[in-house]
Amino acid sequence: MDIIKEKLVLDHPDVRDLVFPTLLFYINDIQPVPEITESYKSITSRIHLGLQFDWLARFCFHQNIEKIELGVERGGTNEINRELLAQFNMETLELDGKKPDSDIYHVFRYFRFPLIFTTKLEMKKIAHENGFLDLMNLTWFCHTPIKGRPCGRCNSCVGTIRDGFGYRIPWTGHVRYQRRMASEKIKNIFRKFPRFYRFLKRFKRNSN
Ligand SMILES: [Zn+2]
Repeated sequence: MDIIKEKLVLDHPDVRDLVFPTLLFYINDIQPVPEITESYKSITSRIHLGLQFDWLARFCFHQNIEKIELGVERGGTNEINRELLAQFNMETLELDGKKPDSDIYHVFRYFRFPLIFTTKLEMKKIAHENGFLDLMNLTWFCHTPIKGRPCGRCNSCVGTIRDGFGYRIPWTGHVRYQRRMASEKIKNIFRKFPRFYRFLKRFKRNSN
């Protein structure tokens, strides 16, 4: 983030006054909000949802922050988009509040989603046309970097490669990506034989 801010101010000195210092908070210091975490867990029992949505919502609750902007984009690996759009205000780009008792509302009421109708490739095109693709290429996405570089196997790296941004991943990351894909293919074959799959999982657990 520091690199992006430095380059932004260097390339566009006129925005210097709009760039504020970064405030650092630790995830473990964010206090619980049982209602949010219970709803988060309920959602994750149906679909994949990153851990960050639980602590981000709790952070906003305790800091009294409303409508923080999240970069959830169209397409990709975001299974949550469909559920968000089912109770969405197309004008304000946030939840419409018509289901205040829903799990989705409990977790996502604190956010706005300005990119939810824009794919990563469309963002790249916009950045290129407006001359800030070099800044976009400095953004970070990997959850588990290896020696300071994207790993290629975490969900975010997988999404980055699938969305046509493979050039952001080093060749070692592409090797890990291929290994993960191969392992998932094998798992999918075994899942067609559930009893055998359960036996293998038990075997793996016992041998660890
Ligand atoms: Zn990664």
